[in-house]
Amino acid sequence: MKESGEQKTLSARWVVPIDGPPLEWGQVHIEGEKITGVSKVNTLDVDENLGEVILLPGLVNAHTHLDLTGFPQERKKGSNFLDWIDSVIVHRISTTPVQLQEHIQKGIDQSLKAGVCLIGDISAGGHSWNLLSKSKLGGVVYFELLGLKRGRAQLALEEFLGWIERLTPHDYLSPGVSPHAPYSVCTELLNFGIEQELPLQMHVAETLLEIELLKTRKGSFADWLIAKNVYDESGLAPSVRNVLQLLDRNPQSVLVHGTFLNDFSEKKRKLVYCPRTHDFFNSSAHPLPLMLSAGWKIALGTDGLSSNPDLDVLSEARLVRAKYPLISPGLILEMITIHGASLLGLDRKNGSLSIGKYANLCCFPIDANGSLDPLENLLLGNQSCLGLMIRGKWMEVNSS
Ligand SMILES: [Zn+2]
Repeated sequence: MKESGEQKTLSARWVVPIDGPPLEWGQVHIEGEKITGVSKVNTLDVDENLGEVILLPGLVNAHTHLDLTGFPQERKKGSNFLDWIDSVIVHRISTTPVQLQEHIQKGIDQSLKAGVCLIGDISAGGHSWNLLSKSKLGGVVYFELLGLKRGRAQLALEEFLGWIERLTPHDYLSPGVSPHAPYSVCTELLNFGIEQELPLQMHVAETLLEIELLKTRKGSFADWLIAKNVYDESGLAPSVRNVLQLLDRNPQSVLVHGTFLNDFSEKKRKLVYCPRTHDFFNSSAHPLPLMLSAGWKIALGTDGLSSNPDLDVLSEARLVRAKYPLISPGLILEMITIHGASLLGLDRKNGSLSIGKYANLCCFPIDANGSLDPLENLLLGNQSCLGLMIRGKWMEVNSS
């Protein structure tokens, strides 16, 4: 394997650049960390012939919670939403700082194994920053803000400011902020997050309980919050629509889930859909087709392992392919590449095999019994990632 900094040319049966049509027997030219060309095979002087594989940009998991990678799988079964939050709280309280770092590392390793090169990680206390900054993964660490009561919100705000102050700038990792959800942050804390002018993600309209809470200020969600001693009705935003309008003030705002949103005409927004987590909580359909018709930009995420079996974002794309046959395979792959990079604010250098972008590539074997179309072969198959290159260097990925 040549060292980064040198020039090399890879060839593969299928090269899927994302910003153009798939190339049968294509090649990618790389110099150092960057792509210098993508074309049909026109030279026999190839450094690495990857053979019968589908080569595409490294994948983007636009929304996850690495710190929940150690969540006990048996706690997930049969949960309603409030029981589920209880189990997440119990897990967080019972996790030691050493275990937390182990879980984050495990999440990083799982992500790389799945062909992921960029990640949007919602991080309690911003604790994933150090391990992520030592890994090859790029992306955004969104510091999670929680506090419906003003006292708690003030603490969260101070912790965030301390975190930002201590961060060492990183070439491939950016800080972001995540006001958690309309039921868990007061409007002052939400506005504080928006005013940071950083990449921002917020869970919005995830459950009917949340919609009911904002509408009536009562109901089982309010009772649950009161029982936890974290309720302050005056901290709640007046409506979900008001939350969306506040978020619109930061052009880097990205919504997560949006399951119970029903008006998509107001503005073309950006949203991360987590298909398997959606199915974990809901039997009803996600409004994905309506969002796409309205021109929303959609990326996919795995969410955390408290609601999902693994951190394999291609499995999310495969579920979208299975559930929504009218959505084109090309658009589905954009959701885990260029659109993911765009929602993280990192698409100038990532998300497609384009000249000048980082040489982030992943390859998958071709399913010999699958579709002749490489996109369908990937989305309808179940093959695992064979290799991942990040910024010009192959990573150690699974050999099992
Ligand atoms: Zn989430």
